[in-house]
Amino acid sequence: MLREYVCNLGGWEHRIVKGKILVVEDEKSIQTIVRTYLENAGFQVVCVESGADALRVAEKQRPDLVVLDLNLPGMDGIEVAVRLRQESDVYILMLTARSEEADRVTGLRIGADDYLTKPFSPRELVARVEAILRRRRGDKIASTALIFVDVRIEPEKYEVYAADTLLDLTHTEYNVLLELVRHAGRVLTRDQLIDRVWGVGFFGNERVVDVYVGQVRRKLEQVTGRSLIETVRGVGYKFVDTPKDV
Ligand code: CA
Repeated sequence: MLREYVCNLGGWEHRIVKGKILVVEDEKSIQTIVRTYLENAGFQVVCVESGADALRVAEKQRPDLVVLDLNLPGMDGIEVAVRLRQESDVYILMLTARSEEADRVTGLRIGADDYLTKPFSPRELVARVEAILRRRRGDKIASTALIFVDVRIEPEKYEVYAADTLLDLTHTEYNVLLELVRHAGRVLTRDQLIDRVWGVGFFGNERVVDVYVGQVRRKLEQVTGRSLIETVRGVGYKFVDTPKDV
């Protein structure tokens, strides 16, 4: 649940706190800019400079989202993300340098929800954070179970079963699959998936879609032995399981 509550600051100012963000960045100047923009947008912000501190603070303070620099001294961002993922489903927005394409893909594979390439505009960062958190709010809208021969999605519980086995999906993988299943038998283009899953404010690379669809397809295939998401060359992706009569 997105925590959204009114707090009383200094007895005068009533302010909506939109969520708690943990910023992990060792460069002080970037940390300060990120903090300022997020706070001005209404978020509560905690900053740390190392992976070890990030894990400690995340466990104690349970942030809604972590802005995670990839290039940290000591434990790097990938390892931090892996460890965060072992403990919780917290959203992760990775910050990477332009030359780190391979790391970016790795980051998405291990469960980061989005990434921004440095140098980035702080406004864009705020927009991305808001888009990620909005997705979560949107998750609650559809509640009817979607039942197919090999796949069953229960949006109310946020659960996906493949061949009656509960699948372990990240938030973004879940949202990608949900969109494909809602449009079963029809092709969704990469642009449509980006709009629906990442939001229209997404500025990243279409490759992100391929990475996520690939991951979801693999996870489904491991359990069902079937390839349930077809690639329609040059167009997009299609979920191909048959609706089940219940
Ligand atoms: Ca850094």
